[in-house]
Amino acid sequence: MMELDQRLIRIGAHPSSKAAAIQQVGELLVAGGYIAPAYIASMLRREEVANTYLGNGIAIPHGLPDDRNLVLRTGIAVLQVPQGVVWQDHERAQLIVGIAARSDEHIEVLRRLTRILGDRALVARLTQTNDPQVIAAALSGTPTPTISPTPSGDEQAPGITVTISHPTGLHARPAGTLAELARRFQAAIRIHYGSRSADAKSLIELLQLGVEHGAQVRISASGPDAEAALAALRDAISSGLGEEEPLVLAGNGAPPAHGWQPRHSTTTIHGISAAPGLALGPTYRHRARRVEVSDQGGDPLSESERLQAALNAAAAELEQLYAETKTRLGSSKAAIFLAHREFLNDSGLLQEVARAIFAGHSAAWAWHQAIQSRVSQLQKLDDPVLAGRAVDLSDVGQRVLRHLVGAAYDPGPTPATPVILLAEDLTPSDTAMLDPDTILGLCTARGGPTSHTAIIARSLGIPAMVGAGASLLDLPDGTPVVLDGDSGALYVAPAASDLEAARQWQARLRQQQAAASATRHAPAVTLDGVHIEVAANVNRPADAVAALEAGAEAIGLLRTEFLFLERSQPPSEDEQFAVYRDVVQAMQGRPVIIRTLDIGGDKSVAYLDLPHEDNTFLGIRGIRLCLQRPELFIPQLRAIYRAAAYGPVRIMFPMIATLEEWHTARALAEQVRTQLEAPRVELGIMVEVPSAALLADHFATEVDFFSIGTNDLTQYTLAMDRLHPELARQADALHPAVLRLMARTVEAARAHSRWVSVCGGVAGDPRGALILAGLGVRELSVSPPAIAEVKAALRAQRMDELQALAQRALTCRSAAEVRRL
Ligand code: PEP
Ligand code: MG
Repeated sequence: MMELDQRLIRIGAHPSSKAAAIQQVGELLVAGGYIAPAYIASMLRREEVANTYLGNGIAIPHGLPDDRNLVLRTGIAVLQVPQGVVWQDHERAQLIVGIAARSDEHIEVLRRLTRILGDRALVARLTQTNDPQVIAAALSGTPTPTISPTPSGDEQAPGITVTISHPTGLHARPAGTLAELARRFQAAIRIHYGSRSADAKSLIELLQLGVEHGAQVRISASGPDAEAALAALRDAISSGLGEEEPLVLAGNGAPPAHGWQPRHSTTTIHGISAAPGLALGPTYRHRARRVEVSDQGGDPLSESERLQAALNAAAAELEQLYAETKTRLGSSKAAIFLAHREFLNDSGLLQEVARAIFAGHSAAWAWHQAIQSRVSQLQKLDDPVLAGRAVDLSDVGQRVLRHLVGAAYDPGPTPATPVILLAEDLTPSDTAMLDPDTILGLCTARGGPTSHTAIIARSLGIPAMVGAGASLLDLPDGTPVVLDGDSGALYVAPAASDLEAARQWQARLRQQQAAASATRHAPAVTLDGVHIEVAANVNRPADAVAALEAGAEAIGLLRTEFLFLERSQPPSEDEQFAVYRDVVQAMQGRPVIIRTLDIGGDKSVAYLDLPHEDNTFLGIRGIRLCLQRPELFIPQLRAIYRAAAYGPVRIMFPMIATLEEWHTARALAEQVRTQLEAPRVELGIMVEVPSAALLADHFATEVDFFSIGTNDLTQYTLAMDRLHPELARQADALHPAVLRLMARTVEAARAHSRWVSVCGGVAGDPRGALILAGLGVRELSVSPPAIAEVKAALRAQRMDELQALAQRALTCRSAAEVRRL
């Protein structure tokens, strides 16, 4: 039995912060002779690694395992904080149980705590009592002094009756919104439907009520803010709980970017064009492989911590998905992710998991069982909508499980016959693993045109559309469709004559591509003898080999951030070195421009713990992040300089906005180079912020080269988010405003004999390539499948004519006018 000396229970504490609470409970343990004072620092450090909030107002701070030598004897101390102290996000701890454990004796206390955890009334008593003996008894297992039971009071509680008018009843999204709203109030709130009732703060309980369209429910509330809660819930329900009509547009909503268009009206799902081309075939819904778990048991304390860490990571992912989707598709389509996140806060679910953990099961097994039992309960309800919501719960379950077992998301089986793949979204690694022979086209419900899914789809040469909304996933497998990647439209079950016309269009396109491909290894020399180097944008070593095969003369952009995505910690210097070296060697003496880490914006990395930003594209992104985090930047620079021994390497810094950033980055690179005694390599900057283009004359005196990132330069010049579903089409890099910034950069570079490359998406568009060449750009870096076509287009032109074309483009008033040239 673990000691609980009543003198180590402090009633009515008021710590000002979590750290102060840990300090106070630690001091109690020191005073009792349980720990050395230095153990308090260890308790604080542990919170940085994994927070010790158990749930239901209870936290169990304790030190790191390595510091157990600072534990003098095993015991616990309790700080009762009736007002609560913020522990994590909106969770407040009211009972802080500091643990000093030399070995595993603390498990017994934890078991007891878990039982307490499941008993809200008891926790309420323990957090409000003035009698330390009540707490001591509850934690040590001696009989609890009798306390009058809290009246349930539910039947007499004030309430309102409302009608649920949403067409599909109280399904996951509206129920999620309702639960989220209810959780903002202290009052206990219940929803009564027929003979059943549910805690309004529990999404799962709400779903289990099975409230249908048109049903009347009673909402009762008791507690200090009961009235306000009822009013807020009534308003939210009458305004539809944030639901809008589903998005399936019929007819032809967007003008096609090429000649083909169905002549007969057909259901069309619109999205954002992500990779050009026309694809015909049956649909196939991508389903990721599920994580399987076995019950291995473990130390309940560390299993609880693992669970907490996995829940936190999943919640962070879901919040990010919500924010991204809200920006791109509006809040109603994003709300599903809030509903998913709500599942993670479900106290009934968490208590069940905690109980199983403290009964000796592994966190993964406990979580899986609890989710599965709820999934099957939902499936049993004779309601197709709620059965569908079981899929949501199961998805959340899998998300947390992946974090628990450290499994990467597994894309699952790919179909044997060619299909048009439909998916909610694809991770960059999923997309990269797609086999272009079986995947004719790619449509995702989420994602943006310059998200990495889209970038990789383009580099694989697969027509793609992203951000099409969840209705895409309702199409049954095998539905015949035509995907128009140019205009971002999916034509569902078109007429036979339209299918035939699409086939003919596709055949003509293939002929043109075959002709260009036959000459892909020859340089792009204009009719009057000017050579434009055509390089490749690549993301990993295998792409370098493909780029060479596609006719690349160099690598103009190695996006190193791919190495940092889809994992739980950054790659080591050695791992990075091996990758960079492989790319350099694969290029057999051709130059490789390695861009340093460009995280932030649409590329986020959970393990970096980046603070939330309202405006990620204007925040700590690219070089700004690297300059703040030398522990990321220095190993990368070291790896690049080491790889430079294997072939010609150049280094390029992304998102440079000021001369100061460039100076600091250059100084760090130089410092690393000197330490390694490596030879000098060319250092350049990406021009993707208008300020860099406007100051190009200053930069040109100092940098070795410029590489214009038109994707970002366009979004920052036109103030149009590159991922925005409505703006993406207008955010055209051939806009004269963007062209003028490019012309200015080229001019400044020419004056100081520097060279300029363009590595943004427009360089891979043959029309864009011609204008850029005319502006004076002498290297275009494009996705490998575009190389042959860009080279063929350049070979058919005279440079003097391209220069005249570019000059005319600079005087145009709009991107459309430029394209008409
Ligand atoms: C760009 O911004 O044009 C660019 C090439 O960089 P990324 O697309 O990786 O941001
Ligand atoms: Mg960029």
